[in-house]
Amino acid sequence: MAEPTLLPDSTRLHLRLLDASTSTIIAIVATTSPEAACPLCQRSSRRIHSHYVRQIADRPWMGCAVRLELHTRRFFCVNKDCVRQIFTERIPTVVAPYARRTTRLTDVFTLIGFALGGEAGKRLAAGMGLFTSPDTLLGLIRAQPASLIPPDPPPVVPKRDQRTLPPDIRQEIVNLAAEYPAFRPHEMATICFVKFGHQPSPRTIKLVLATGPKPSRSRCIAPFHEITDSFARRRAIIQLVNSPKG
Ligand SMILES: [Zn+2]
Repeated sequence: MAEPTLLPDSTRLHLRLLDASTSTIIAIVATTSPEAACPLCQRSSRRIHSHYVRQIADRPWMGCAVRLELHTRRFFCVNKDCVRQIFTERIPTVVAPYARRTTRLTDVFTLIGFALGGEAGKRLAAGMGLFTSPDTLLGLIRAQPASLIPPDPPPVVPKRDQRTLPPDIRQEIVNLAAEYPAFRPHEMATICFVKFGHQPSPRTIKLVLATGPKPSRSRCIAPFHEITDSFARRRAIIQLVNSPKG
């Protein structure tokens, strides 16, 4: 960081007078260069057209607001081919064209905006003797190159409720119940574990059967109690386990 100096750029500004009230310090300064470059054609000119004064806020001093009364000039462009006949001198190390605060004060506001945002930044600035608005601070952040703005945090992905069964398991439970009403919850839980690697509790299965969804398959096996042969019963279970999902 550059060494702090009273004036934003002591090589380009001359301090004529320093005046102070109880809450404000006014520095009357003037530009020192005998010439200025036309912003359009870059040709230097010493032909002064007129003088004018800009009121520019600067960094505070010990909590007191500092205002620069900047005496600056307009020049004639000496380039006959240039369409800009008159231009105002630029002092980019001090203040941007048409700005009402110094570049270094803008830097302070930008840092405050990045650190605290609009509302809290405004309160901190007020404590330093600076007056700004949340919109101003946020506007300075938006004006920065995109590379300086930290990326948005990744979107918050809600954790899946572990109590909620995936839809395919819920569908399988109601299908099993529709295909074979004699299955008891723990038997359906076993089938779900074999097919999906997830074993819902009997209580969950009862809840799914009470709340849906609707079955997507119809009965394909005879009711369990009508199958008298024990081998056929086991085969029916294996058939249900190996049936396609959904
Ligand atoms: Zn020019």
